[in-house]
Amino acid sequence: MQLSRLLQLLGALILVAAVLLVGRVATTEWQSVRKASRSLLALEEFRLGLLAVEMLSRERGPTNAALGDVHPASPQRQQALREARERTDQALARLQQSLAHAPYARDTAASEQRAVLALSRARASVDQALALPRERRTHAMIHQAVYGMVAVVPLLAPLSNASARASLSAYPALGEEVHGASLATDLRDQAGLLGSHFTAAIVTGRRFSVQERRSIDETRGGIEQLRALLELRLQLPQASITVVEAWDRVTMRYFGAAYALAEDVMLRGERDGRYELKAAQFAAQYVPDMESFVQLRDVLLAQARSKASAEHARAARVLAWVLSGAAMLLLVLGAALLMIQRRVLQPLVKTTRALRALARDDLSARLPIPLAEDEMAEVIGAVRSLQVQTQQRQDLERERDQLIEQLRLQSATDFLTGLPNRRAFLAAAQGMLASASRHGHAVAVVMMDIDHFKQLNDGRGHAAGDTALCTVADVVRATLREGDLAARMGGEEFVVLLAYCDTRQGLRFAERLRAAIAATAIALPGGPVQVTASLGVADSVSVGLDLDALLSAADAAMYAAKQAGRDGVAAAGGPVNP
Ligand code: GH3
Ligand code: MG
Ligand code: MG
Repeated sequence: MQLSRLLQLLGALILVAAVLLVGRVATTEWQSVRKASRSLLALEEFRLGLLAVEMLSRERGPTNAALGDVHPASPQRQQALREARERTDQALARLQQSLAHAPYARDTAASEQRAVLALSRARASVDQALALPRERRTHAMIHQAVYGMVAVVPLLAPLSNASARASLSAYPALGEEVHGASLATDLRDQAGLLGSHFTAAIVTGRRFSVQERRSIDETRGGIEQLRALLELRLQLPQASITVVEAWDRVTMRYFGAAYALAEDVMLRGERDGRYELKAAQFAAQYVPDMESFVQLRDVLLAQARSKASAEHARAARVLAWVLSGAAMLLLVLGAALLMIQRRVLQPLVKTTRALRALARDDLSARLPIPLAEDEMAEVIGAVRSLQVQTQQRQDLERERDQLIEQLRLQSATDFLTGLPNRRAFLAAAQGMLASASRHGHAVAVVMMDIDHFKQLNDGRGHAAGDTALCTVADVVRATLREGDLAARMGGEEFVVLLAYCDTRQGLRFAERLRAAIAATAIALPGGPVQVTASLGVADSVSVGLDLDALLSAADAAMYAAKQAGRDGVAAAGGPVNP
């Protein structure tokens, strides 16, 4: 498998693993965040529920006070009752509002309606009793008004329970605080109820009825039970300092002062019904101490809230860490893959391409530029030296080939005239003869020797002889047809091999050459000079296609031309009519 594909595969695998892992952790933490948020919301709903219960309990204070007052009740009393009712209504409205969006809203809607309905009925019977002068308010009437109000609180229990359950199911560690706050609220209510039990008897100034006695006992039993439960739930004294302090206040204020007052009222109610204080006075002494329950409840609610907030913050922090960690991981992974791709794979592919081209002696492939001083740079450097070496070798080879070609040419060329030399002539002539033999056409050889050349050499100098040789060679070249072959055989002797040519044509050529030489003035430092030459012609028709035979026949003819007086042309085997 290719390294790049392997890398892609590896990258994809790591990516999937990282995404799965991060997804798993992030989902868990995201759920924790959501649970904590839900727990905070449910706690607020729970708090509003407890607040509504508190306001309902509180409303009983001014209600009972008004019921025990003269008719019409004093403006302060009326005002206090109005304000208490407003506070209850507001608390209920806030509760209704917050519960409207709760997930358990459907389950609690009925209880809510029942509570609101019961409250309006209870208030109606209170108002009915208050409309009468005090003497005409019967015991039964007051009892109905008081217990009508009392009966509203339990109707709200399903609401508080549902929100308590919701906050606990989201974050079970809040059990101590949620149950504690619930118990504290119940205690506040029961304590209020205990006070309410006295109202009718204190207002009418008589002993407790059997029914009242039973209710008082029941409520006291309930209070004791709640007190024991709360002590158990709060796990005193290990609870937090604020909770312990709040509990100490409850013990001191309610179970100390207020409870003692209630005991005294009870004794009187059992004994003779002479209470020596009015309902309002009792309420003024008894009610403030019940505040300690509210304080305890608020301490517990605040503690629950701060626990849930801390949990929310922790989960959000972990989630942020997980997400930023994941982002970092992916970033590092991506950067690593990119780096490997750019610093290793891409240069490797290009270098391999260049190396392959180098194997074919091709230097055109460009090498990549190394991005860093790393191992890859060393590989590229090594291939570059190989390229340089190959370039040098190629240059050397080219030079050598040029040299060989030069030598070949030099060995075949006469250095003075530039015409082919004897060796080159013999080799080329063999080829031409073979071709003539194949195609069956005739050839002619013309041999030429400059006349009295020695005299020129002796008279004008060797250099002048050289110049004359060059000029004659130029004349030979100029007279040649295409396809013919001329050469310097040595000294002042030249030869021409004429293709497609018989003796007659050969003689005509020789004559043309002779005349041209004779007509040429050779420019020399000491003044121009003219030379003549003697030429002998032999052709294949009479001599055959053997080169040696042709050459010696032409040579003999040339010699005959010399003998005949020079500056003439002779044919092999005797004169021929041109
Ligand atoms: P002929 O052929 O008419 O009988 O007389 P000739 O004077 O030409 O006779 P010969 O062939 O004996 O002389 C040839 C001379 O050519 C001899 C030599 O010094 C001269 N020679 C040969 N090669 C060269 C050369 O390359 N340069 C020069 N300047 N002279 C050369
Ligand atoms: Mg000669
Ligand atoms: Mg000569």
